This record gives sequence, structure tokens and C-alpha cells, in this order.
Amino acid sequence: MNNCLRIPDEDAMVALGHQLASLCPAGVVFLEGDLGMGKTTLCRGILQGFGHQGAVKSPTYTLVEPYELNSRQVYHFDLYRLAEPEELEYLGIRDYFDDSSLCLVEWPERGRGILPKPDLIVHLTLDGRGRQAQLQACSEFGQKVADKLLQTG
Ligand code: ADP
Ligand code: MG
Repeated sequence: MNNCLRIPDEDAMVALGHQLASLCPAGVVFLEGDLGMGKTTLCRGILQGFGHQGAVKSPTYTLVEPYELNSRQVYHFDLYRLAEPEELEYLGIRDYFDDSSLCLVEWPERGRGILPKPDLIVHLTLDGRGRQAQLQACSEFGQKVADKLLQTG
């Protein structure tokens, strides 16, 4: 079965984020893809879906930005500048990944071995002027989310 979605423009990326927010109240989502592929844009859509208004900055230097939205905890990680996965231990990484929070992780590759297993991996690549999102489910819950996204997308 094809596990790719075509996302023609920025608005469609934000819309995909809204949809993900409605399907995924908690869990761990990895956002992979090169610089400029739309990872932060997708996070903005997800955060908006949870009720966040305004801009979303990549927490490039702080590594994580916490949000409390409609009494839900969402953590947006950007691990681009992480020198080694062990640095995450100093952040107290385990406190973030509890059952009730949603963790969005840009550049998860940099935290390999320390980050917990995701429910869903979204891998973004160029597709003409738009983007393609390849969905990889890593849990039963992630599979349900992926199936719904692929049905409606
Ligand atoms: P990343 O976090 O992966 O580095 P950004 O989210 O900062 O990428 O997005 C980089 C650029 O890509 C932004 O200018 C954004 O508007 C654009 N963009 C995002 N999604 C799409 C899309 N589906 N099609 C075309 N451009 C997009
Ligand atoms: Mg980014």
C-alpha cells in the first residue's frame, strides 16, 4: 500500500497538521527531512490544531519549546544542534515523554538511542514545488493515525 501523501503547498502542510492534531492527542511523532522540507510548518499546523495562535519558532537553541494548549501538553523539539544524543539526558528527556503528552521531534536522528520509539515517523521530501510526506507507523496507534491520514489524503 502506498504510504505517501502529496502536499502541494504550505497551506496543505498546515492542514495536514490540523488533521494530525485531531487524530493524535498524545504520542510521539518524528519529523524527518532536510532543512526547508516543512517540518516546522507541519508542527505549526499541529500546534494550531491544538488551539495555538500565532507564530511557531523552531527551538533551535533551546532544543525544546513546551506548550500547554487546552490543558494538553505539547512539546516541540528541534534537535538540529544537538552534538550527541547523551545531551538529551541533561535536558531531563524522560520527563517530557509521558503518556499524556504529544512530543513532536524535528531531527530525531540526532537523538538516536536516547529518544523513545515514536508512534509515527513523517519523512518529508521535495515533490516539484510541493512536498511529499512518507508515513511510517511504529506502533498500533501510529498505524491507525497513518491509515486515517492516507484514507482522507
Ligand atoms: P524545516 O523545518 O523542515 O526546515 P520549514 O517548515 O521551515 O522547514 O519550511 C521551509 C519552507 O518550506 C517554508 O518557506 C515553507 O513555507 C515551505 N513549505 C512548507 N511546506 C510546503 C509545501 N507542502 N509545499 C511547498 N512549500 C512548503
Ligand atoms: Mg525546522
